[in-house]
Amino acid sequence: AENYAIKTGVHPAETTRNAIHTFRRQIKRVGISYDWEAEIATSHPGYYKWTQWLFLELYKKGLAYQGDGMVNWCPSCQTVLANEQVVNGACERCETEVIQKKMKQWFFKITDYKDELISGLDQVDWPEATKQQQLHWIGKSEGHEVVWEVVDGAGIPNGKSIKTFTTRLDTIFGVTFIALSVKHDLVGEIRPLGKEAQKYVSEAVIQSESEAKRSGSKNGIDTGTKVKHPITGELIPVWIADFVIGSYGTGAVMGVPGHDGRDNEFAKIHTIKIERAIEGNQENSSDLYEGKGVLTTDFPNFGGLTSEQAIEKIEAEPTYSGVITKTTQYKLRDWL
Ligand SMILES: [Zn+2]
Repeated sequence: AENYAIKTGVHPAETTRNAIHTFRRQIKRVGISYDWEAEIATSHPGYYKWTQWLFLELYKKGLAYQGDGMVNWCPSCQTVLANEQVVNGACERCETEVIQKKMKQWFFKITDYKDELISGLDQVDWPEATKQQQLHWIGKSEGHEVVWEVVDGAGIPNGKSIKTFTTRLDTIFGVTFIALSVKHDLVGEIRPLGKEAQKYVSEAVIQSESEAKRSGSKNGIDTGTKVKHPITGELIPVWIADFVIGSYGTGAVMGVPGHDGRDNEFAKIHTIKIERAIEGNQENSSDLYEGKGVLTTDFPNFGGLTSEQAIEKIEAEPTYSGVITKTTQYKLRDWL
């Protein structure tokens, strides 16, 4: 409405009022019978005083707060765009290239209610499928957070680190790469990326993540940066990959191509080493095994342990405290 006002010089209050009249006339003409006494207009002061009241109540309780969020920004229109308004990386209105901009946004703290939202499902008579969707949306999963120290060219930690979340800590000996989302904070600052990598990043950022997810994209690029394996000390390459969703979890994942189908596909396309670190009961010579089993690593004290024993051992080992931490992760984000 603001941009239309700038273009035409007519006040938004007037154009909005006219639009409402047009809608009402059209709805009546097609014979839809609404109860017009219950009609509301969200732009009417008598209506929005209640939205404002509600917002203030949430604010007073700390449930509305300001934080940084990434938005699609059209530098020419000077406005935030919804994903649907970005067409091939350009603004649908003026075709200017859309950029990602960090901006102060208001968030509603729905994550305070994540466990209540799950337990409350027992008390509503929703269809089972709807409850499943709700659970999927909240996305609770138990696992571990692993901190990977970034190292310089000489293999010395440079003070930066990457966090990943996994539900399969037992596969950690099979990690052969770390993958960052293009939106990960470190992407801009880890060792100067090559020309090719920079080009890849700027293109990938424009393509929305949901698009990448839908098309099952396996694009990625080796950054040349390495991290140190928190247990073996081995140096692991850091990739940027668009299958990693920036808004989910830590925005980085540990790549275990020997034990995860998606990582396996990615590794094959980019010829990254595939390592089997767990054997199941059955003879299985393929390079992918997604089940649990017995660790095959020759790293001291871990080879021969079962998946469960290995996880317990890592959790109990003081050396890894603060580096590998048991945690619960939720997909649910605060409401933007
Ligand atoms: Zn524009």
